[in-house]
Amino acid sequence: MDKEKLENFRSILREQLRQHSTNVRENQAAALEMVAADDGVKDSVDMSLQDVSQELQFRLGERESQLVADIDQALLRIDEGSYGECARCGKLIPERRLEALPTARYDAECQSLIEASQGLDDISTL
Ligand SMILES: [Zn+2]
Repeated sequence: MDKEKLENFRSILREQLRQHSTNVRENQAAALEMVAADDGVKDSVDMSLQDVSQELQFRLGERESQLVADIDQALLRIDEGSYGECARCGKLIPERRLEALPTARYDAECQSLIEASQGLDDISTL
């Protein structure tokens, strides 16, 4: 991949990192606020609603944290010069795929093999 394209992906990833870092902070702040507010006597319906939305906030936070980690790693691969190579088979990931998913570590073929072997647990939890 030429340097210009690489720099383009780097700026896309940096922008995503900035946005998701903000999301993580906001989610954490919202979750903490709910914990802090959760000190009064409440009836059971309120309590369970509170628990559910708290749980959701934590999960969203986890998901955002994972995204931030993925973006971090993609930026690291740009620095190392391995960005755009499939981490499994070493082939170049098509640029069209990287444009759709700048944090992609695998080409479509390896990605589907990996997902097939892992099942879809990650996606079905939310
Ligand atoms: Zn591959």
